[in-house]
Amino acid sequence: MSKTRVRFAPSPTGPLHMGGVRTALYNYLFAKQHGGDFILRIEDTDSNRFVPGAEQYIIESLRWCGIYPDEGVDADGKVVETPSERHPHAPYRQSQRRGIYRKYAEQLVASGHAYYAFDTAEELEKKRAEAEAQGQTFIYNHLTRGGLRNSLTLPADEVERLLAERTDWTVRFLMPEGRVVEMDDLIRGHIAVDTATLDDKVLWKRADELPTYHLANIVDDHLMEITEVIRGEEWLPSLPLHYLLYEAFGWQDSQPRFAHLPLLLKPVGNGKLSKRDGDKMGFPVFPLRWTSPTGETSRGYREDGYFPEAFVNLLAMLGWNPGTEQEIFSLPELVAAFSLDKVGKAGAKFNPDKAKWFNREYLRMHSDADLAALWLPMLQEKGVQADPAYVERVVALIKERATFVQDFWDIASYLFVAPKEFVPKDVDKFYKPEFYDMALEALTNSEADTLEEYVRAHKMPMGKVMNCLRLALTGSASGLGITDILHCIGKEEGLARLRKMKEVLGN
Ligand code: GLU
Repeated sequence: MSKTRVRFAPSPTGPLHMGGVRTALYNYLFAKQHGGDFILRIEDTDSNRFVPGAEQYIIESLRWCGIYPDEGVDADGKVVETPSERHPHAPYRQSQRRGIYRKYAEQLVASGHAYYAFDTAEELEKKRAEAEAQGQTFIYNHLTRGGLRNSLTLPADEVERLLAERTDWTVRFLMPEGRVVEMDDLIRGHIAVDTATLDDKVLWKRADELPTYHLANIVDDHLMEITEVIRGEEWLPSLPLHYLLYEAFGWQDSQPRFAHLPLLLKPVGNGKLSKRDGDKMGFPVFPLRWTSPTGETSRGYREDGYFPEAFVNLLAMLGWNPGTEQEIFSLPELVAAFSLDKVGKAGAKFNPDKAKWFNREYLRMHSDADLAALWLPMLQEKGVQADPAYVERVVALIKERATFVQDFWDIASYLFVAPKEFVPKDVDKFYKPEFYDMALEALTNSEADTLEEYVRAHKMPMGKVMNCLRLALTGSASGLGITDILHCIGKEEGLARLRKMKEVLGN
């Protein structure tokens, strides 16, 4: 059996959606599980849809996830431009392969599987408008091609002349009539489609001397010896054409197997997960923050504080299930456990709360020292110069309460700076002269560990005294245990905060 070779083949038309990252991930997992290669190919033949920065965004997103291609654009973290022993199929950016495709298009014309079409954009537009006026849709297919300007209808010398003179012709696939294309999908099983429903797709354009997606995709998958095509469900309608192209080229024997992944669905309802859902419900749909060429910014999982491991784990579970109760998987564990036959056909509903749950789990798995190292620069940004060992102690106390490292500050800023404000409803309840006096007396005459004992021994009302003290230490009546707080900030600072509260709130 030939070595497993799969590819992720994004078009750089904008930031990679989390569904795109999942496609890359499943390809990567499949490749690694089978000891094969994962290839990153950039499908940038549609210059109208090219977005500057999108390719770099794709590369950076995959790197952030720890998904490194064995071959392709960004193999070894470099853009590979020329073929070598390690990268025999370079370049991996289709715009740099433009010289390759024309001969394949011509080959199909010569074998009668494709033809030249000379209809101008205006002529086709007119046809469309006419059809629309009659409540129909114009389709370039077996019903219409006979009445259009192409190499099937024009005399041979006219065709030669137009090919030489005009620069706007195309090569179209001659969709066979009266056939049922029988296909197999590794996730969806057997599929049959009648060619009567399909049109004569453009394969190559003289205007920019570039192939369309369909031709470039098939030719490159063949040349790059791809064994499995794992891609999103939105490409399923193209599958019959792709089967017919393999057949037309005579490449059926080495044709890859196909797997179409289920859609990612919005948290409520049945639609596809879109950026709008993210904006509305407050979660990212992109791996990294993206600023469009027009300056519009979209949030990213990385900037929102997700660990890449958590993001990878949650993506893996969107459409695949291990068949057990296990939910937490490292990348190597995913490689071992993944299989396409456990990928569902039905769309996978995205649950933003579950996404956060994954991050919480990963946060807990990180050591206190790691988390402290991540938090330190954020503290410095707030102007807090803290001792790393102290930060680590604080992390140990608070990590159970946090989802993101960014949450640490909200949970425990008072372990670094005295509160500047006091929650009014807690002030009303606990800032009473008698409680204040008792709190001051108790703290003055005890230590962090003996405070409660003192309060009890002197028959002071425990809850009220402690909450009055907590108000002074933290600004509210909730938060960590008083003993823990005092261990961190120290008794002297505790007393200073009590006095400060009195200064701020008065009598
Ligand atoms: N360029 C296509 C995309 O952007 C690739 C589809 C495929 O994998 O065949 O998704």
